[in-house]
Amino acid sequence: MDRDYDVIVVGGGGAGHCAAIAAREGGARVLLIDAADRFGGTTAASGGVFYAGGTSVQKAAGVEDSVEAFFDHYMTFNHWLIEPCIGRRYCEEAGPTIDWLIEQGISYDPKDLYVAGIETTPRGHQPSGQGLGYIETLHNRAASMGVELVHSTRAEALLADSEGRICGVRASGFDLACGAVILACGGLGGNKELLQRYYPDALRAGDWVYYYGVSTNQGDYVALGESVGAVLANSSLNHGIVLRAANFERMPDAFVEPWHMFVNKRGRRFVNELANYAVLGEIIEAQPGSHCFTIFDEDAFAAATGHAPYAGPDKPSWYNPNWANDFLMQMLERGKMHCADTLDALADTIGVHKGALHTNIQRYNQFVCDGCDEQFFKPMQGARPIANGPFYAVEMRASWLVATSCGLQIDIHSRVYDENDKPIPGLYAAGESAGGVSAYYIGGGNSVGPGAVFGRIAGRHAAAVALAEAGKARALA
Ligand SMILES: Cc1cc2nc3c(=O)[nH]c(=O)nc-3n(C[C@H](O)[C@H](O)[C@H](O)COP(=O)(O)OP(=O)(O)OC[C@H]3O[C@@H](n4cnc5c(N)ncnc54)[C@H](O)[C@@H]3O)c2cc1C
Repeated sequence: MDRDYDVIVVGGGGAGHCAAIAAREGGARVLLIDAADRFGGTTAASGGVFYAGGTSVQKAAGVEDSVEAFFDHYMTFNHWLIEPCIGRRYCEEAGPTIDWLIEQGISYDPKDLYVAGIETTPRGHQPSGQGLGYIETLHNRAASMGVELVHSTRAEALLADSEGRICGVRASGFDLACGAVILACGGLGGNKELLQRYYPDALRAGDWVYYYGVSTNQGDYVALGESVGAVLANSSLNHGIVLRAANFERMPDAFVEPWHMFVNKRGRRFVNELANYAVLGEIIEAQPGSHCFTIFDEDAFAAATGHAPYAGPDKPSWYNPNWANDFLMQMLERGKMHCADTLDALADTIGVHKGALHTNIQRYNQFVCDGCDEQFFKPMQGARPIANGPFYAVEMRASWLVATSCGLQIDIHSRVYDENDKPIPGLYAAGESAGGVSAYYIGGGNSVGPGAVFGRIAGRHAAAVALAEAGKARALA
């Protein structure tokens, strides 16, 4: 069948836009479709942070880093569960991809670099305008280059020729012929059945669990891929990132205000409350009963603004209305916050051990007074003693699902693999649809970053292969 396009990209989030632009740069005729009624996917709702090491932006900020150090950290944090060649590809290509994004019009102010993971090196690259600005810039760039962009169009099936080469997409009832297809249709966060199958740990908090990505992210890549023999990457299964949240409004709740003091069911403090969200959800999950309470007093309640520092005291703070006084007042009225005149009564209400609660609050108050947390090493700027009643407690669980890592097995060219462990000709994946790139979520930027890196790689490779195939077909004709 005659080709309508050289490359079709399925999914118009961050990974899909990078793939489409790179394929177009490679000389391909490109179509980008999205199932939603607007482009951007979850990327548009995100911070847009890109996790990278050894970059020109770091250099401009005077940060010493290298691809080698980044790779070492990346693999260690991932417990060497992912294939080193994929991890290495990401670490090597992250810097050049940031430079490429800058060429596309994205700007990364070196002053905005921050420590985004469990480490001391600033590797979180924040684009101006966050995720929305990132998408708008890439979208305008793709349009200006001649990428065809169609939303409200869902890929329903992949078309393959008699030799198993992917040669098209059925989308919203139409068959579209092409030389290569890139699946960049997000993760499976919006699909409880697939979560149950591939990321059951994400559902451990039951009814509390919510996904804050776009609802069109239904894990379509699973059925699309499996229909042509693709396999999911084992190393990523049952991985992704679930953050701590109270059962309040279902909104982004990534960063913790310094006045929180967490105790588990035994009344014991168990963590630096300001620990990076890459690990905080898991630490809460590991407590008895898989939950904890944040405890605070009347003074903290009255002063709560919802502002949490996340990139350092000299950087702008993150505003989360869930933790501002007026909203907390509503939560109290709706019974979502516990209140008691004394700590003993509060312990009875929430069912934690009274003695341990007293001991831990006493110890914590001493740390606040000394300005030094000798137990968990939390920076104490903004911390408050728990001293003046009434006292409050809010239950928290690892319940905000941010991203899934249960994608299709890819190689260093973003080619999708089948059960014979061979690439399926003409099929690529990037973003959350691609697996084996991360097992553990290393910190802020560990999804947008790989999405851009492997999206760009997929676009380049798919364009080259599709154009070469077209040339071969013409020569044979
Ligand atoms: C509030 C929030 C903040 C975040 N901040 C960050 C951050 O700063 N840095 C970071 O790295 N990660 C962050 N994340 C996670 C990150 O945003 C996502 O994991 C990442 O953007 C996913 O990119 P993607 O391109 O794979 O998918 P998406 O951006 O979700 O795009 C997938 C697109 O595919 C479309 N689609 C789905 N199925 C089909 C189909 N069958 N046919 C056609 N189209 C289809 C969807 O409509 C969607 O538009 C954040 C997440 C949230 C919720």
